[in-house]
Amino acid sequence: PEIIRLENIFKIYGSGETEVKALNNVTLIVRQGEYCSIMGPSGSGKSTAMNIIGCLDRPTSGSYYLDNVNVAQMDDTQLAHIRNKKLGFVFQQFHLLPQLTALENVTLPMVYASLPKNERLEKAAEALKRVGLGNRLENKPNQLSGGQQQRVAIARSIVNRPVVLLADEPTGALDSRTTQEVLDIFGELNASGITVVMVTHEPEVARQTERIVWFRDGEVIESNLTPADLVNT
Ligand code: ADP
Ligand code: ADP
Repeated sequence: PEIIRLENIFKIYGSGETEVKALNNVTLIVRQGEYCSIMGPSGSGKSTAMNIIGCLDRPTSGSYYLDNVNVAQMDDTQLAHIRNKKLGFVFQQFHLLPQLTALENVTLPMVYASLPKNERLEKAAEALKRVGLGNRLENKPNQLSGGQQQRVAIARSIVNRPVVLLADEPTGALDSRTTQEVLDIFGELNASGITVVMVTHEPEVARQTERIVWFRDGEVIESNLTPADLVNT
């Protein structure tokens, strides 16, 4: 089954002389359980597409079906609800709150859930164990390495059990060893059924996903590359 369907998506910024067509008739389908990366040069529309996929922004026109619901023209409140229910986000910067422990950081997405505090803490601890940080619950971000901080951010992204995990340059601030730790975790989460869509400019990162989508000038120019195809780019 399909989990993401972008259909004839246009995103236009500005108007008249300053008009920019950031997305120019993008159609893209991601099936449930896929592990995809999105690549392409700077300015090719990757972030714009991720913002729309992530329900952080609306397309100018076109349809976006997320888990079979057209969310393209929902209002901000509805989008926020969908985001919280269906999506997890990981960014290049970890965006952890420095004064909170790892455990407390991971409970943050559950503030709107009507769960007793002890259950929120239990779920947060479980998510941290899933990323190998069961022994770091009480550490604050500055007591953790970069790789560990990104793993806390990943735990935070999965604690509400999203159907899709969206990652924007998740290894951009990491060295090659911690990059591999983080990719191993994405691989395990994907194996457990979470659909993963990741933007990266690193071929060695994209090569570890199953499918590569390539953007250029606001268009999808390749939607089904395999890791082997990247050798020639
Ligand atoms: P990428 O993520 O591939 O670098 P973006 O999606 O950020 O590409 O940008 C696609 C195009 O849209 C670029 O020409 C960029 O300058 C333009 N753009 C992105 N965001 C805005 C914005 N908020 N206002 C105006 N133009 C924008
Ligand atoms: P990892 O590979 O899991 O990211 P490292 O080998 O880089 O871990 O770090 C080992 C230990 O050193 C970590 O468990 C962490 O406690 C500590 N550490 C590493 N880098 C930092 C840092 N920048 N700030 C604070 N502690 C750090």
